[in-house]
Amino acid sequence: MSDTSKSPWIIHYDGSSCNGCDIEVLACLTPMYDVERFGVINTGNPKHADVFLITGAVNERNIGVVKQIYSQMLEPKVVVACGACACSGGIFHDCYNVIGGVDKAIPVDAYVPGCAVRPEALIDAVVAGLGILEEKRAALELAGSYEPKERTSPSEQEQLEAADPQPLLEEPAEIEAQADIDVNADEEPGE
Ligand code: SF4
Repeated sequence: MSDTSKSPWIIHYDGSSCNGCDIEVLACLTPMYDVERFGVINTGNPKHADVFLITGAVNERNIGVVKQIYSQMLEPKVVVACGACACSGGIFHDCYNVIGGVDKAIPVDAYVPGCAVRPEALIDAVVAGLGILEEKRAALELAGSYEPKERTSPSEQEQLEAADPQPLLEEPAEIEAQADIDVNADEEPGE
């Protein structure tokens, strides 16, 4: 058994949910369900994550973000569609800009129905996802392309950020320079 299947890290993205399912995802982390006791950590970094939890349907605005987060996750990885909206579009499936469930954008490994989805069902899906993760890891190992993910724990991450704080925003001069470029790009020659 690998480190990923013993203590999987998850990343959570709210596609276009009503927030009902997101509250249930967060409930998994509260003392009531406390999945951290099993080594499950909610990370904000796709490169650190093994399991991608998505709530809400895929629409014209978020499909690029869903694909980008997925592509930034390193193999092996597992995708869990959380709730009716993520599975199929749910009550939003007829909306003008809704494309459908998460599988319209990326491959999904586990579907968890419910409106809202129950925390117990989510935990079940993550546990089922561990088996899939292990299978994918074994296949990569056989192919000779498996590389363990390098991860920093939340406390190590805090220490790194304290030692080398990153600016939250770009420098004003850089933003102005970019604005100039964008404005000029829209102009017709000779205007
Ligand atoms: S499945 Fe229900 S609770 Fe979850 S995001 Fe959709 S409407 Fe909200």
